[in-house]
Amino acid sequence: MRTAQVVHLAASGLVRAAIALVVMMALTSPASSQEEQSDGAPLEILHGFTLIDGLGGQPVEDAALAIRGHTIMEVGTHHELQAQWANDPNVISVDLGGGFVLPGLIDAHIHLATAPNRENAEAELRRLLYSGVTAVRDMAGDGRALASLARDARLGEIQSPDIYYSALMAGPSFFDDPRPQASAAGEVAGKVPWMQAVTPDTDIVETVAAAKGTYAQGIKIYANLEPEEVNRITYEAHRQGMRVWAHTMVFPTRPLNVVRSGVDVVSHVCRLAWEGMAEAPSEYHHNQRPDFDKLSAEANVFTELFEEMKQRGTILDATLALYTEFDERMLLPGSPNPTPPQCDVDFARDLVRRAHAMGVDIVAGTDFSTPANDPFPALHKELEELVAHAGFTALEALTAATATAARALGVDKAIGTLEPGKDVNFVLLDADPIEDISNLRTVREVWKNAARFTRTDFVPAQVTAAESSSGSELDTSTPAAMLQSWVSMWQSYNLDWVDDLFVQDDRLTYFSSEFEGVIEGFDAVIEHHRGFGFVPGGTEPSAELWVERPVMKDLGETAVVGGVWYFGNREAPEDAGRGPMTIVLIPTPEGYRIVHMHFANYEPGA
Ligand SMILES: [Zn+2]
Repeated sequence: MRTAQVVHLAASGLVRAAIALVVMMALTSPASSQEEQSDGAPLEILHGFTLIDGLGGQPVEDAALAIRGHTIMEVGTHHELQAQWANDPNVISVDLGGGFVLPGLIDAHIHLATAPNRENAEAELRRLLYSGVTAVRDMAGDGRALASLARDARLGEIQSPDIYYSALMAGPSFFDDPRPQASAAGEVAGKVPWMQAVTPDTDIVETVAAAKGTYAQGIKIYANLEPEEVNRITYEAHRQGMRVWAHTMVFPTRPLNVVRSGVDVVSHVCRLAWEGMAEAPSEYHHNQRPDFDKLSAEANVFTELFEEMKQRGTILDATLALYTEFDERMLLPGSPNPTPPQCDVDFARDLVRRAHAMGVDIVAGTDFSTPANDPFPALHKELEELVAHAGFTALEALTAATATAARALGVDKAIGTLEPGKDVNFVLLDADPIEDISNLRTVREVWKNAARFTRTDFVPAQVTAAESSSGSELDTSTPAAMLQSWVSMWQSYNLDWVDDLFVQDDRLTYFSSEFEGVIEGFDAVIEHHRGFGFVPGGTEPSAELWVERPVMKDLGETAVVGGVWYFGNREAPEDAGRGPMTIVLIPTPEGYRIVHMHFANYEPGA
């Protein structure tokens, strides 16, 4: 019909211009709007790596990507692309120096703003980005905070994956839960566009339109909705161009009915168990647990369910590592997630394995965070779990976190694989992730929308001792490693490590927080540490030292690192001594060395 109109109106030049504009706009979907900025950018040929393009095929050695601005123009071997642009003198050749390139990873289930805390969210996003994650799906929180984060991530104003998020819908009784109340602070949960209560009387067209107005890409169907309501929401959300992301069990709507409504993704494998139970709770808040002992992943109910999912292309967001993490963390006091485990881990693993074997598409979603001082986010654990316990090859696990995830988010035209026309989003690893999925932890660089991030620039939000500090070698190869090594030194009181970290001559100066005047020269600095109780070989310190809000500036000839030091008990940081600190580093053939150190104390209680 649109074509017919175009033919009729194509007479005047003005209309032709208008058509050109419409065609341009059609080509420029929101996800690839950056292509406009690619005009005039030089063509760059990135080479010197093995390519895993995310399409599921075997890696290509000596591969290359031709990019212009934010967009991939061509993919091939280095030889092919060199030949293709042999006559263009303006081509820029960029040698990535070996390693493995794969599409930027996607965590399909995170929560950035349940009770928004901008500082914590930015720290988590920074860690995700530097770990190779270039997109995330947020599964409901405060829509005001999410819109702000998503904007800043998109514009590169914060170091962050691109953020796609949801607006939640549930039955009215669900909103007594403290989480949606936190996410609607200042307003009424259930009556804000990002957290809406739905009843049989709800005007669903208006409700979906309000959700869409929050800039969310999907509706999250959470709980306490009858099948009729799930159907209505799903139909209308799709009609308005939104994705629909549901819990597997919507109470009372069971998994098979959720899938039959046509939702795009269902979350949490363990709750599929309700499909196999004769009785199930009618509302979300309950203490009932499916009778896992009587359930088998091989049962016919799951065969029927997975066949339906496969036929419809419904994606399973299993969140498998969540269940194993719960089990482990339940043993720890002060656990961040006090909910009792509602899952049998072995059953969950069997069910994911079965779904995968039957050809159901599965995405890697986590729904939890690793501790703030962990150098990697939860996604790496989910992928390791899929390979170790759910029958995935490493390549299949990578697909779960790239191509399949992009489809779950509805942005597979722009991201998820490395193909011509897609955004320049990729990870460069030192070691082959197909040989061992844990090699995803050998990340060297991350490119998001063609902006380049180097892993060595990353420091965790909280710097604590290096995990392998039992060894005799301290890593001083980068400013970030240097800061962590210095913290390790203070957690071991090892006088030998003072030798390894400071320049050993009169250039060294040191302002201590408890000593007036400058300490000059290496020998005096050794004595200062001895005065604190440092001994050769190390000893148990009286308290723990860690650093929060680290900053890092590599200035070429020197580097400056700093942060807020804490000394005390990390479980009770409010009682710990603390203050600002600055360390000036210089590069030497052996690595970075401290040439100046400055400590101060904040007033107690500050
Ligand atoms: Zn969640």
